[in-house]
Amino acid sequence: MPEPVYFDHAATTPVREEVFAAMQPFFGPRFGNPSSMHRWGREARTALDEARERLGRCLGASPDEIVFTSCGTEADNMALIGVWRARRGEGSRNAAVSTPIEHKAVLGALHEIAKEGGEERLLMVDSAGRVDASSFDALVRDDTAVCSVMWVNNELGTLQDVQTMAERARSRGVVFHTDAVQAFGKVDIDARRTPFDLLSISGHKIGAPKGIGALFIRRGTPMEPLLFGGSQDRGRRPGTENVAMAVGLARAAELAVAERDEECRRLQALRDRLESTILARVPDAVIHGREAARAPHISNISVPGTESESMLIALDLRGVACSAGSACQSGSITPSHVLEAIGVSTDVAKAAIRFSLGALSTEAGVDRVAEVFPMLAEKARRLATA
Ligand code: PLP
Repeated sequence: MPEPVYFDHAATTPVREEVFAAMQPFFGPRFGNPSSMHRWGREARTALDEARERLGRCLGASPDEIVFTSCGTEADNMALIGVWRARRGEGSRNAAVSTPIEHKAVLGALHEIAKEGGEERLLMVDSAGRVDASSFDALVRDDTAVCSVMWVNNELGTLQDVQTMAERARSRGVVFHTDAVQAFGKVDIDARRTPFDLLSISGHKIGAPKGIGALFIRRGTPMEPLLFGGSQDRGRRPGTENVAMAVGLARAAELAVAERDEECRRLQALRDRLESTILARVPDAVIHGREAARAPHISNISVPGTESESMLIALDLRGVACSAGSACQSGSITPSHVLEAIGVSTDVAKAAIRFSLGALSTEAGVDRVAEVFPMLAEKARRLATA
């Protein structure tokens, strides 16, 4: 069998050599606790401070506006729940607003807020996953504590107009969060230009290890901590800091920003090649979200009459790793909440396959997928109708 190809970078990415090298000393001689007064501690503190500063620079933020978290999920939870709890005493600002196509890290936080007495509201999105502007105006208002809209959707790649939404939220006194887990390294993000108050990123999507993320918290944003204990991170996130991972995240972020423009051009060319070849071979294939402006690394494709679970297995047997655009629970496929929210029929949603490109993607790999996928899809359709 030819070398397997990895088309699942939106799920996770390989750790970059430069990132691993930057982290290594902190698993060896530089093992100190940044809270310790002695030389080991001071050395760790310096490394942590530097990581915060370097990551801040990648976002147009000051070091004190960066909180390292254990993952993107924690950053999303902290943003929504932390702000909502901090604002709950503020007059009638009780609502938390988001979209139906968010990652579960945001939707789960929203449900938690509802359990604590908050009002949960979801904005309308169109058939490509773009937030409807009039729905935004109707739901994000002076009774809203916090609003969260993801910058790039993890299933579709759809980009949102974060600039406009952040400006409108600010003019209404609403704290605005954006989940930039799939956007970082693909979109030019600058906290000095775009008035978001909070922004989440995750290391393992950009070449750092799993288990590290960060939340940008603009100075002055009301925020209650989710953890209680020591005074690390000025009490915003107690617990001994993960110095090695923070250093790794900062290095990965710097590399992603430095390479962004060129890598985006490369990935977009690869994605376009993948989509046009598949469409030429399977003219009735549906590419979800294609009408919208999209980040270049995600392509979500359904071939009507197939099922993603069996397609994934068949693709894997042929050495192609990708993921379903639907959630697979105990053998039965439930259509993805994202595809459902943009109005894709259940049958078509159950056929969705997400290809996501990144560091390991090459033209040869794309050509393999563009050959194998249509062939397997046709075979699956023949079997289904036999
Ligand atoms: N938000 C988005 C858009 C994601 O794609 C993911 C991960 O897939 C997350 C949040 C959660 O990040 P983590 O895996 O670091 O918890």
